[in-house]
This record gives sequence, structure tokens and C-alpha cells, in this order.
Amino acid sequence: MHCRIIGMWGGFPKKNAACTGFLIQENDFSLLLDCGSGVVPLMQNYIDLNQLHHVLLSHYHYDHFSDLGVLLFSRLVNTQLKRTNQVLQIYGPDDELIRSRVEEVSFSAFKAYTEDSKLTIGPFQITFKKNQHPVEAYAIKIESSDKRLVFTSDTSFTEELIDFCQGVDLLVTECSLYDGMNGAQAGHMNAKEAGILAHRSQAKKVILSHLPHYGELNELLVTAKQEGNKNIRLAEAGLMIEV
Ligand SMILES: [Zn+2]
Ligand SMILES: [Zn+2]
Repeated sequence: MHCRIIGMWGGFPKKNAACTGFLIQENDFSLLLDCGSGVVPLMQNYIDLNQLHHVLLSHYHYDHFSDLGVLLFSRLVNTQLKRTNQVLQIYGPDDELIRSRVEEVSFSAFKAYTEDSKLTIGPFQITFKKNQHPVEAYAIKIESSDKRLVFTSDTSFTEELIDFCQGVDLLVTECSLYDGMNGAQAGHMNAKEAGILAHRSQAKKVILSHLPHYGELNELLVTAKQEGNKNIRLAEAGLMIEV
């Protein structure tokens, strides 16, 4: 399994960049994890849109799903042009509006998940943990035959999250705030909390994502590593991580 970072900015994308989007691939199978603003254009550096048939969304904040609409339209147009004949399958928390917006575009389908769901998508087994966030949002665990990845999505720090991430090969954790800022109040984690999660979960590799638009990003890394896990790096667009 490998993980390609398409984008990692919190809130809105920087120039020529994208909000949250990760391409999870094993052999010839691809799963897009979140589809924030800017993900559709930048993803095409790594995959033809007609080779992507599965999109898993963590929640419905714009920085995680706002490119979904144009991705649905790409499937509609490319199907009419006979460049693909596969339905684009969207998985997300249950939401009548999202379901109807997906299903009103031909050649796309929607499947809802809950915290109790166990999805099989291609070679991946997928489970969920409900987050502390202003809207319904989930941390997502993706397992293949021998590797495990957790993407926290957006959440405050919780003890249960440590259990959910225990021993994973790759932890992609949000790190929206600097040390001393109040993550619990914001529904996000600061760098110290992300570092505690990285250390106490004993994750083998850690990526800090959902990065802020201010301050010195390297401080996030320094703070997180001080908690004990040294195998942490900042998310970078285009970076591919072997899980
Ligand atoms: Zn976000
Ligand atoms: Zn959010």
C-alpha cells in the first residue's frame, strides 16, 4: 500500500495547491481519501480521472469535499465520451443532501457509512471512529493484507483515538494548531496533541497534515517530535509514502 499526498492545507488551498486529499493505492487499485478544494486538478499529476472509481469522504466541510461536484461531472462527461464505463462510487457519512447531489449526476453512486460500518473497497478493509468536531466526522482506518493506515481527518484529541491508531504503519494526523492553542475548543489538534497521539499510538510513520496558513510550520514538527515519536514529518504535496 502507498499513500500519495495530493493536498494538506486546512480551510482553503494555497496558490496552485490543494486542501485535504490522499490517494491510497495498492497494485492497480486506487482510493481517494477526501476531495477538498484543488484535489481534482492536482490529482491528475498522478492518476487519470477515469482510473479512479472510489472516493471516501471523512466529513462535509469544504476543505474535505468541495471538489466532489466537479469530480462527479468528470465522470458524467468522460462516460459520454466513452472514456470510461464504470460508476464513480462515493462513500461518506449519511446525509440526504449529499446523497441526492451525488445521485442526481448520472454514473455516480453514494453509499453511507456509520461508526459501526466495515467496508471492503477493493483490497482494503475500512473501519471508522467518530470524531470530536463541529460536524459529523470520522477517523478512518484502512487495512490491506499486511499494512494499516489511519487518517484522523479533523478532530480534537481523545484517548479513544490513541486506541484506534495503535501500532499502525502510517498515521496521517491533523495538526491544525500550534502548541498552546486550544484544540478541544476548535475541534482540532495542536502540535503537542498530535505528537502525543503519534507517540502513544506507537505509529511507525507519522505525517502531520491539515496545516495552518500562519506561523512557522517547522515548529509544528519540532513540538510533535518532542513527545517522543521521531518518525514524523510534515505533509508535502506530491510526497509518496510507502505504508
Ligand atoms: Zn478541515
Ligand atoms: Zn472539518
